[in-house]
Amino acid sequence: MIKRKAILLIALAMSIALSSGCSILTDSVSTRTNAPTANISETTAASEAINQNGNSSSSSGGESSQNNEGSDTSSNTETSTEDTSASSDGAQAAQGGSATSVVPAAPIAITSDLTVHFLDVGQADATLIQLPNGQAMLIDGGNSGDADNIMRYMRSLNITVIDYLVATHPHADHIGGLPAIIGAMDIGEIYMPRVSHTTQTFERLLTAIQDKGMQINTARDGVNILSIPELQIDIIAPVRDDYSELNDHSAVIMIVYGSTGFLFMGDAEILAEGHITANVSADVLKVGHHGSHTSTSAAFLSRVSPSYAVISVGSGNSYGHPTDAVLNRLDSAGANVYRTDLQGTVVITSDGSSITVNVAPAPYQANAPPSSPSAEPSQAPQAPQAPQTTSQPPVSAPEPTPSSAPGNSDIVVFITNTGARYHLDGCRHLAQSKIETTLSAAKAQGLTACGTCRPPA
Ligand SMILES: [Zn+2]
Ligand SMILES: [Zn+2]
Repeated sequence: MIKRKAILLIALAMSIALSSGCSILTDSVSTRTNAPTANISETTAASEAINQNGNSSSSSGGESSQNNEGSDTSSNTETSTEDTSASSDGAQAAQGGSATSVVPAAPIAITSDLTVHFLDVGQADATLIQLPNGQAMLIDGGNSGDADNIMRYMRSLNITVIDYLVATHPHADHIGGLPAIIGAMDIGEIYMPRVSHTTQTFERLLTAIQDKGMQINTARDGVNILSIPELQIDIIAPVRDDYSELNDHSAVIMIVYGSTGFLFMGDAEILAEGHITANVSADVLKVGHHGSHTSTSAAFLSRVSPSYAVISVGSGNSYGHPTDAVLNRLDSAGANVYRTDLQGTVVITSDGSSITVNVAPAPYQANAPPSSPSAEPSQAPQAPQAPQTTSQPPVSAPEPTPSSAPGNSDIVVFITNTGARYHLDGCRHLAQSKIETTLSAAKAQGLTACGTCRPPA
């Protein structure tokens, strides 16, 4: 079975490689005058990359990584629709990049903000970035049930094109929503590490890319995504391609805007962290692997020295993320921590010199009741819903669209008399009985999303 899938993947990869041929990226480059020429040569590795992808498909994405820790294996994540609920505050979190504050006289034109939306997609990852040049970037796309919410959020910001799409690594909680997003939106360039995975989710991703007639740019250390005055986007990992753990293949992204830096770790673990040779010093750290203790070593943290640390994690997740160990390390490193499970979508904005966050830091909160004595006692009892900062401007999505961002808890879904799942209209599991209700009501009953029709989670 696995072998057959691997062969299918190879075939898919080969056909993508073949169909892309040598005329790589001519389309997207021509429409992107800002793209540096270096970009072109970098992307020529694409077809070759996916070729090798196929060849090594079972060597790295396979056995060991699949069973380790279990936190990201597709079998778990694909069905773990628990709690992707969230996001009901997502829209409110959107600052909308309409900052009108006086721009200081900068030596080089900084015309707009860099706005990073750490979307609340439950126990998964999806980060939307509005670049100051007007382009948009998406790092990961959550689980498959998150695609609609993510796209709705983008629409609320008037984003119709994803200029740069990064799939950090092939785990379902990172790529699950991407096939639908790729199918529905205009995509500029796609970056993925040179590693494969024998899951249907990964197959769907490759198929979506193939159907789009696109090719994959290899994500690895040294690849530049964008380089324009005051804005630099680089991939600084994976440094190696022989990791046994799929998470260690994660594309790690560094964005430097003016004097501010943002570091996005994907699910990279401590081994991969240690291999990174690039400068990782950053103001904002997207914490690796949802706060798992297998990532974010104290040594790495001291290199990054972040002031802000964001953890994308689902409340009540079965993995115990974020772990006390990582919360302690972040606390010791002096970072303010923001968590999507406690605060919903977190929006961090840089004007090139200073950084603002749409919510106050999360209270220090060890997951286990007996907290260490070093915990900040003053903040421990705070309510989970962090209050908004007083300086927060009135929330304004650029184009106030009717539905706001992730979190459509009142969309219509259907349940059956006896089933434990809720469904979209037309699902074959509704043959016996079909009762209309709302998403929030279904979830309140403890029902979970059907794996066949894949309604929003
Ligand atoms: Zn992972
Ligand atoms: Zn993950």
